[in-house]
This record gives sequence, C-alpha cells and structure tokens, in this order.
Amino acid sequence: MTKTMQALVFYRPGEMRVEEVPVPEIGPDEILVRVHACSICGTDLRTFKAGHTRIKGRRVLGHEFSGVVARVGAAVEGFAEGDRVMVVPGISCGMCAYCRQGLENLCLHRTIIGFDYDGAFAEYVRIPAAAIRLGNVRKLPDPFDLTAAALVEPFTAVYNGQRLLNIRPGETVGIIGAGPIGVMHLLQARAQGAALVGFIEISEGRIQEARRFRPDFVINSRQEDPVERVRQLTGLGLDVVIVAAGSAEAQRLALEIARPAGRVSFFAGLPHDRPEAVLNTNLLHYKQLAVFGANGSGPNQYDTTLRWLASGAIDLRPLITTELPLAEVHAGFDRVARGEGLKVVIRP
Ligand SMILES: [Zn+2]
Ligand SMILES: [Zn+2]
Repeated sequence: MTKTMQALVFYRPGEMRVEEVPVPEIGPDEILVRVHACSICGTDLRTFKAGHTRIKGRRVLGHEFSGVVARVGAAVEGFAEGDRVMVVPGISCGMCAYCRQGLENLCLHRTIIGFDYDGAFAEYVRIPAAAIRLGNVRKLPDPFDLTAAALVEPFTAVYNGQRLLNIRPGETVGIIGAGPIGVMHLLQARAQGAALVGFIEISEGRIQEARRFRPDFVINSRQEDPVERVRQLTGLGLDVVIVAAGSAEAQRLALEIARPAGRVSFFAGLPHDRPEAVLNTNLLHYKQLAVFGANGSGPNQYDTTLRWLASGAIDLRPLITTELPLAEVHAGFDRVARGEGLKVVIRP
C-alpha cells in the first residue's frame, strides 16, 4: 500500500484543500478503513463556513461514511481485511449516566470521527480503538449497497428523532423542509404506518426533488397559506409535525399546524450565531403540545436501522443525487450550499 493519500484538509473557516497527506498509522487495537463513500452533511458545510467548536487547527472532515476494512491491528478480533463496513462516527464513553441509560448520543464524554479525529473525506480513515470496542464498526450484509451505507448515520439520527415522536398507524405527519433529512423522515413515518405524510417547503427545486418520494401532500408556503391548507387536509391540524429545516420561522409554523395534543420535533438546529426563535408559547400551552428536541443517535439504534435497511423496507439509494470524486469535493459543498438535489456523496 502507498504511504500517502488524498484527503480534504480543513484549516480554518473558509479554507480547506484536497492535499496529499500520509496514510494514517494504526495502533494494535485499531482498524484502517478504505473509504468507499462519504456523504456531505449540513454540519460539514457549516464547519467549512464558520468552523466548529470541536475543531482546533487542521482536521480532515467527513463523518457519514462507509468503506472496506484495509488493515486490522494485531489485537483486534472479529474483523478482517475486505469486510464491508459502515462506522458510527459518535464515540460514547459507555460509562457515564447517559450511556448507562442507553442515551449514548448525549454521552458526557462523546468524541466524533470527522471532528475530534480525522474523518473520511479521504482515501483512508483510522478507526480509534474505543470505536471498535464499543461496537461502532458495523459489518454490512452482502446485498447492502455500500454507497447508500454512507447515509445510515443521518438515517439513524432521523430514527432517534422519530422514536421520541412514536408515530402510530393512521396518523398524519407534516415535515417542514424537504431536503434529504426531510425525505428520510417521510420514508420512516410511512414505514411506521402514517396515513398522510407530506412536506411544507419554500423552495420549488426542493419540492420537485421530493415529489419523487410521493408525498401525500406538498405545501409551498411561499405560494399558499400552510395553516389554511393543513386545516383543509386534516381538520384539527397534524398529529405530528417535524421541523427538518434550520429555521426559526419553521419552528414557529410547526406550533400552529400541530393539532391539540399533537407532537412536534425540532429536529434541525438553528444557526449557532442565531439560535433564538420567537414562538407563540400559548399555542404550546393551550393545545397541550409536546415538543421534542433530537440530536444524533446512539450506537444501539443502528441495530434497528441496519436491520430495517437490510430488509429492503426502505431504500436510501434514490436520495443520492450526486456522486463526485474527492478532487471535486468543493463542487459538492457548493451543491449542498445551494440546496441542489438531495444527498451529495464523495467517492474518494
Ligand atoms: Zn452529519
Ligand atoms: Zn458516556
């Protein structure tokens, strides 16, 4: 194997470059993965533009990835060269109060590949020992599409959010924001048996993409009043509203279109420099709404999502609208910034 590789190195906000860097060395209890696919996440874009609290100095970005095991440390058991894997990027400690409750995504000592360690916008990525010990490296069954496997991480974050919402058969679900995360919410809500699932969106381009997934309704809230349309569709309002757009306006709207005793998920975060929203909290009070946050996912939740995906119940492949080599990663970031297509995946 050669000693150098191509990697996307982030230096500071607005500055990152594809460079020749050494292939990571691995310790005896670590694994080296040849990256097959790494998806560009909204967080990667925000990091490129504004930096990230976890990143001081240079860092290879990329945390939504799949690949093939290229080298196995002498002390590692259960993995062999050639294993097809996806890696859970968040490494929890396994010991704190949250980890013991199965809320590993809220671990007090969590570190993340692509932020605290070099990530997978590179030909190879080193998997730290703790990730292997805690079960973050998941072997994929054979028919599992290795490119689509790069989307399992955000898909599992969506699962974490929906588990709190507990969507039941026959319910109505509105998703504000028809980007890739919104589409994943649609697919999962439908798989849970929701009777009516659709989007509220302002971008006509996003609406066109999302129509491929056959939503039961689409409301362009620039062209029509979403509150009125939801009333026509449901009478009392939606059982469940999911905010999959990082917008205070979307959060405000969610409280209006949820029915009394409805459930709302603030799934998307707001920009770090503008995290405040003005909300009519009387809607929360009088309608007795339940509002949930959601953040990431825990390694135990991948048991469910990987089984679900392996069964073919949900296919993530149609969400990938762009595949680019690492040399064109900047064009990929531009596409994500412009909201063109759905998921952009880099194939190093
Ligand atoms: Zn991500
Ligand atoms: Zn912990």
